[in-house]
This record gives sequence, C-alpha cells and structure tokens, in this order.
Amino acid sequence: MKEALSYDDVLLVPQYSEIRSRSTIDLTSGGFKLPIISSPMDTVTEADMAIAMAKAGGLGVIHRYNSLQKQVEEVKKVKMQTDIVCAAIGISGDYQDRTFALYGAGCNMFCLDVAHGHHIMMKEAIQWIKAIHPDVKIMAGNIATGQGYLDLTEWGADYVRCNVGGGSICSTRIQTGHGYPGLQTLFECYAMKENYGLKSKIIADGGIRNSGDIVKALAAGADFVMLGSLLAGTDEAPGETFIQDGVMKKVYRGMASKEAQQNWKGTYSSFEGVSSTILYRGSVVDVLGDLERGIRSGLSYSGALSIPELRDRCVWARQTGAGQIESSPHILKR
Ligand code: IMP
Repeated sequence: MKEALSYDDVLLVPQYSEIRSRSTIDLTSGGFKLPIISSPMDTVTEADMAIAMAKAGGLGVIHRYNSLQKQVEEVKKVKMQTDIVCAAIGISGDYQDRTFALYGAGCNMFCLDVAHGHHIMMKEAIQWIKAIHPDVKIMAGNIATGQGYLDLTEWGADYVRCNVGGGSICSTRIQTGHGYPGLQTLFECYAMKENYGLKSKIIADGGIRNSGDIVKALAAGADFVMLGSLLAGTDEAPGETFIQDGVMKKVYRGMASKEAQQNWKGTYSSFEGVSSTILYRGSVVDVLGDLERGIRSGLSYSGALSIPELRDRCVWARQTGAGQIESSPHILKR
C-alpha cells in the first residue's frame, strides 16, 4: 500500500542563505505577481473578492452557485477593473448556456469546477469549450493523482486544481472513503509535469491553513494555491457579519454542504461538505499582506529568491509525532 504525506508530516529544512532583504524575493508565478487564487465558493468569491485579488496580483474565481443572470452581473463588475476574468461553470446542466453568457459578458478564463474532475464528462466539457472558444483559458479539476493531472492537461486544461477531499469544510473522505493527502497529490502531479514537460499550472487547492502550508505547496511543485477558509471572513467575501458568543463572524460553507445545496437548488442530494462560521478578519488586503510576508520569509529560509529556486533548493524532512508537537506553539500544553 502506498504511503501518502500531508502538510504536517513534513518540514522544509532551513538552508544557507545570502538573501539580505526579503523584499528582493520574487513571488511571480505563471504570469501572476502573487501565487494566490480565491476559491469559487459562495462565501468566498464574487466581484469584490475577484477585484481585490487582481489588485493584489492574484486571481479570484467567481462562483457558479447562483442564477446565470447573477453570475453574469458579477462578471461584468469585474470586467471593468481587471484583465483576466475567471468564472466557474459545471460540466453538466446549464454549463453550455453559462459559457455563452459569461463569455459574452467578458469572461476569458473558465474554471470547470467539479468535485471529481478526472471524469469523461470533464474531457467532453473541456473539448467543447476549446472548440467554440479556442481563445479562453481553462482551469479544471479537482484531481487527486498524477494521472489525473496528465489527463486533464492533455484534454486541454491550462490550470489544474489538485487535491480531492482536503478542504477545511470538506467531508468527502468521510462520506465516500476516497481522497488523497494534498501534499502527496502535489508531489505526484509535479513529477508528472517534469517527466512529460507539461505546461499546465498546478493549483494546490484545499487544506491550506497558513503561509507555512503555502510555502510547502510551492516547494512541492504548486504554481498557485487556492484558498477558501483563509479568505472567507473578510470584508470582500460575500455574506454579512454577525455576532456569535461576543465575537464577529461570517458564514463559511462547503458548496456540497446541505445548506449550500438547499440555498442554491432548493433541495440537496448527497452532501460532502459542512457549513460553519469563521471569525471576521477585516479586509482581505491585510490578510493577503500577512500571507505574502510569511511566504517571503519561507523562501528566505530556503535561501531562494524565487519559486523555481525554492523547488531546486528545498530539503524535505519527515517529522515524527513529537516533531509535530514541537512545530506549533506548545507553551499551553506544559
Ligand atoms: P479550504 O481552503 O481548506 O477552506 O478549502 C477550499 C476548497 O475546498 C475549495 O477550493 C474546494 O476545492 C473545496 N470545497 C469547497 N466546497 C466543498 C465541499 O462542500 N466539499 C468538499 N470540498 C469542497
């Protein structure tokens, strides 16, 4: 049986560095200044988040869990303000109608957004879009294996969302017994990318809790990370703030949760996510600033001036259970 590693199983070992200032570190990746993408979820990305992400140098993917008209409105708001406009669609139901309408509204990158993307219907949907709009970029997923990454790339995906079942609000592994630790997925996708000289970008999606996880994902081969919980709870995420137990919060929920499905389609089928609340965190600009500073610091510990250099220079170590305890603040456990 295969051993599969997750973020907490490993650390990056500090290396000799000649970096005198973290401001000299270049975080450019795949043509973006910041390797961070906000997730297409109804408590994370509509126009305000997509615009803020673009201004920070990253990308926001407008979610699809609303009416076609509402999604078109969100895309139009973004189109005035940014060069790349990315919106999510499915691979069945009204996805073709959405493609035409969103393209007409200015969408030039489509995210084919399904839980199990290594699927014949994904192949058909990518090929259909590429045939009618060869000019658009395609983001597709999610996949768990190197083979999944290879297949989606060959079908025409420019960006592949990697990781199945690792999201903070995800219950896929509990409901279905299927999934694969996120970091392992990245190692295997990156090996496939290197072996076959593939060009599609790897997106580490789900389960990223802090800038340390982001640095590990980038070192493992991700070109971008996609974030849900780290960006929900901000002013730019959809939804109102409310007071719970004396603290300000917002709702953050999985798109396959009962609650999200009921809101979106009036009923629910199988559910593979949960609905939760999350602390209110102010502007996403500040959250992204904190993450960016953490990533720069991470690269400097490996002596790397860029993300490709990080991949070349990084040294991985497995940690034991005792190591994991030592790795987070532990004064309170004494
Ligand atoms: P987070 O950053 O750990 O909160 O994970 C966000 C990611 O979880 C998203 O980008 C999706 O890939 C995934 N996701 C969103 N909703 C659900 C769900 O209901 N079930 C399983 N995975 C989900």
